[in-house]
Amino acid sequence: PRLANQIAAGEVVERPASVIKELIENSLDAGATQLEVRIDQGGHKRILIRDNGSGIAKNELTLALSRHATSKVDHLDDIERIATLGFRGEALASISSVSRLTLTSKPADQTEAWLAYAEGRDMGVQIKPAAHPNGSSVEVADLFFNTPARRKFLRAEKTEFHHIEELIKRLAMARFDVGFTLIHNGKTIRNLPICKTDAQTSRRIGSICGTEFARKALYISGQSGDIQLSGWLLPPSSCAQQSPAQYTFINGRMIRDKVVTHAIRQAYAEFISDTGLSAYALYLTLPFDQVDVNVHPAKHEVRFIQSRLVHDFVVQAVQDALRQQLP
Ligand code: ADP
Ligand code: MG
Repeated sequence: PRLANQIAAGEVVERPASVIKELIENSLDAGATQLEVRIDQGGHKRILIRDNGSGIAKNELTLALSRHATSKVDHLDDIERIATLGFRGEALASISSVSRLTLTSKPADQTEAWLAYAEGRDMGVQIKPAAHPNGSSVEVADLFFNTPARRKFLRAEKTEFHHIEELIKRLAMARFDVGFTLIHNGKTIRNLPICKTDAQTSRRIGSICGTEFARKALYISGQSGDIQLSGWLLPPSSCAQQSPAQYTFINGRMIRDKVVTHAIRQAYAEFISDTGLSAYALYLTLPFDQVDVNVHPAKHEVRFIQSRLVHDFVVQAVQDALRQQLP
């Protein structure tokens, strides 16, 4: 089974940022409101995610590291209308098959913390007592140490770090109710506290999308049937930045979907010639049975059941919002 894990790892574990994405999704699924992401050497050397989520009981630690062990799907049906972020039960098993992984956890109702350690694909899981506050930490050291071919594909520290920073920015734009800290080589790169007030929300938007965006973006909120679009859009007259903030979220997931992106650009095209300069953070919500998130294991892609309908709704909603801005 460990070999199967390594094969699965090829699909989910592409680079340090994809490991971090899976680990953070687990933390969010566990109800964490505070996340610390500590990485060394662009994640090549070490990734450590610490959360204040529900934790994992001692007798479930080994299971959490085995393939297809998920606490999130009770019936196969659930896959159809999945609401949690992770659901395949293979991220931890896959990651541990290509690294040295330590999972330390303490649920609030357990007096001591315990850790589970797994290394590569041939070793079992070791369980030991540990010290840890309520919540979990996952440490991934020496990613791809036993798969030299994959290791070779790791880019320079700077490139991997860039991917990680982009990921954290997207997650932070998806979850204003969660605080994030990003530490690279011992240095705090980002500290994004939980946003409870409009001022805190605006500060986070400013630190991720730029202060210009935070000041000038229009708030949009539209609905048609059970599809909803909300978020912020930069008015066409202010679109001038070289690498503008462009974020789209579907049912809370950070997804860069072709249908939605095309619709936004089409709406802007009425006002500006270079739609690449448009800037937005938009949140699309639709019933879970209207969107298939199960297209790719890493879940970067979705398929809409009625993509034409979604497309036209987004064009309309964005155009309406931009038009209001005209003199
Ligand atoms: P999945 O998320 O698809 O269920 P994973 O391999 O990512 O599969 O995780 C396996 C299981 O380990 C999860 O279902 C969950 O029960 C548990 N788990 C993993 N990470 C955490 C965490 N940070 N906090 C609490 N439980 C966790
Ligand atoms: Mg998961």
